[in-house]
Amino acid sequence: MPPKQLHVTIIASPGIGHLTPILLLGHRLATQHNLHVTVLAVITTRSHSLSQLITSFANHFSIIQIPAADISAVVPPDAKVVTQLNVMMRETIPAIRSAISAMETRPHVLVGDIFAYESWAIAEELGIPKYVFITGNAWFTALFTYSPVLDKQVVGQYVDHKKPFEIPGCKPVRPDEVIDTMLNRDDETYKVYLDQAVGVTLADGMLINTWEDLELQSLDALRTNEVLRSVVKYKPVYTVGPVYRRYEPESVVLKDEVIKWLDEQPDRSVIYVSFGSGGTISAEQIKELAWGLELSRKRFVWVVRPPTGHVSDGSFFKYGQLDTTCDYLPEGFLTRTKKVGFVVSSWAPQVEILNHVSVAGFLTHCGWNSTLESVTSGVPMIAWPLYAEQNMNATLLTEELKVAMRPASLPTKKVVRRDEVARMVIDLMDGEEGKSMKMNVNGLKEGAKKAISTNGSSYISVCKFIEDCWSHVRQ
Ligand code: UDP
Repeated sequence: MPPKQLHVTIIASPGIGHLTPILLLGHRLATQHNLHVTVLAVITTRSHSLSQLITSFANHFSIIQIPAADISAVVPPDAKVVTQLNVMMRETIPAIRSAISAMETRPHVLVGDIFAYESWAIAEELGIPKYVFITGNAWFTALFTYSPVLDKQVVGQYVDHKKPFEIPGCKPVRPDEVIDTMLNRDDETYKVYLDQAVGVTLADGMLINTWEDLELQSLDALRTNEVLRSVVKYKPVYTVGPVYRRYEPESVVLKDEVIKWLDEQPDRSVIYVSFGSGGTISAEQIKELAWGLELSRKRFVWVVRPPTGHVSDGSFFKYGQLDTTCDYLPEGFLTRTKKVGFVVSSWAPQVEILNHVSVAGFLTHCGWNSTLESVTSGVPMIAWPLYAEQNMNATLLTEELKVAMRPASLPTKKVVRRDEVARMVIDLMDGEEGKSMKMNVNGLKEGAKKAISTNGSSYISVCKFIEDCWSHVRQ
């Protein structure tokens, strides 16, 4: 007898940028498609912010928190985040397996993010299908999965090349845009990354946090390009995006201080500045950015993080437990900008901020979640990529979708100077280019809404994924 309800178990690796979209996907599958969902959240920290996030979803499906295995004896403490995440997820497999064995209802399908690929072994033991949920976009997916092929073709460091790298059917990737794990081929992390790229494609299908209209070319290449598909064994590709945090004014019980401050500002007068959950910039860059904001004479909300190299580096694993002193800002900055600026030194309610009527622009590190939150709030951006695949995201936003501008001095120069910061902020908020970006981003916002609404392209794609899961169950 086939079961009445499909039970999908989704594994999230540590990091708020992974956990958030997984919880949102779980929510979508449980509420829109009536599936039985369990999220296994591998966590490195227990903080108030994390509990709040988890609690906000706990009414809709079950969430089991699994402490990440201690990897201190396996990798050095200064290993790159990608290495740490891969090793952590591998070492946590026994705990994931136990959590699954203890479930009352055995899962019918396993889904995991790109760091959970070694858990495919558990799906195989249970004889159930496994799918990867790529929390980035389709162009990133293409480069990531094609990297083992490039590895065989390209001689020397990628960054030393002059010509873009061709991915059959996709927009080529310039050497300065490659994913940061590709920057040094001699580094151990590069090898870890290549193994991961191969492991991910062994899943029975890919769910990607994008939608058809946003990335027609890359999606078409992944699905139909014969040259690409002859070297990478792609399984079905499902677009499920945008999976993003919606602004729900009715759920706001207590207004955050920053929202109260925004309430007092004129409409469309504030630039929001944030480099995501773990992004840090150099001490010199923080000073130039601060001076740039001041010179622009625009209002701002800035989520500051201690500079790169500061003791609290590695904030990626410390969601909600951040440094609260701001002594790295230029002297007198906080006093001089008291009337026009609001500095957040811990965690900001980003979705509420982006949806606030007084916010006109977002200076962002282009993490894919932040990008989707900005797009779905109709807020144009200044793209300031820092790590991972963020350079590609910045290119997509600036050159293809035309919803963001980018410092001309990045990535060749190390520091963006204050004049350039001020000019960009003014251009985005007052200039003609900024106006046209605002129109474009509003168009994308509508397209995103349509894609996930009933019978929209992503809705239909999720239905196909569910049908495929059922056909596995029936076999
Ligand atoms: N975020 C937030 N408040 C902050 C910083 C980040 O709510 O002060 C959220 C942001 O809304 C997004 C996530 O953290 O959902 C960051 O994910 P993203 O993919 O943008 O970047 P990452 O931090 O993974 O590099």
